Amino acid sequence: MSTSQSNDPDQIAAQRIAGNFAAIQARMAGAARAAGRDADSVRLVAVSKMQPPERVAAALAAGHRLFGENRVQEALGRWGGLRPDHPDLTLHLVGPLQTNKVRDAVALFDVIETVDRPKLARALTAEMARTGRRPDFLIQVNTGEEPQKAGVAPDGLGDLLALCGDELDLPVRGLMCIPPIGEPPALHFALLSELAGQCGLAELSMGMSEDFETAIRHGATLVRVGTALFGERPPRR
Ligand SMILES: *Cc1c(COP(=O)(O)O)cnc(C)c1O
Repeated sequence: MSTSQSNDPDQIAAQRIAGNFAAIQARMAGAARAAGRDADSVRLVAVSKMQPPERVAAALAAGHRLFGENRVQEALGRWGGLRPDHPDLTLHLVGPLQTNKVRDAVALFDVIETVDRPKLARALTAEMARTGRRPDFLIQVNTGEEPQKAGVAPDGLGDLLALCGDELDLPVRGLMCIPPIGEPPALHFALLSELAGQCGLAELSMGMSEDFETAIRHGATLVRVGTALFGERPPRR
């Protein structure tokens, strides 16, 4: 029997995931420098939705602390138990938020990236007043104006921002988008970047496994990467 750890399948998987993190971070740094930006001006949100717990444990063991989830209940189940052992975690909600999940979302997440309508902004404000917890927020913009997709239409952004800033005191730090499938993402990244510039917002959450380098060229400060870090997600049951 070998005593080498490299025969242990869990160990091999953990090493592969640690290697993926290092490789993606190197590519992010390269894309930033190529765009004339500091490497540390872009952060990696590791999207752990639907990933088996041992893969997330491997990411934690590799030192990663910034994670994204797209469903509130699933995120609570995963991170509620892990958080006490990892007080330095930062959790982002990157999926749509229903108003009946606002209480759990404000309790768990440090950044909610998907504010997209007045009713939600008001519910978040009320929950922050009730609990005193103040996450940061991004507004999701439906850059492709797809009817089925979450996000405020580009021409509705100004009104929503005015509501958040003037009436609600909701701390909006930036914008987020998910480009339409099958379209070149660069146009959407460029539009989001232009909108953020017009509105004086610093954070730009854009780019996933397939296109994060393009997003960094267009100014992304947060890239949301899942598959390229953890491997393919098992199908939802
Ligand atoms: C799943 C998801 C991601 C990560 O997608 P990958 O292609 O696996 O990198 C990023 N952003 C959002 C909003 C997601 O739902």
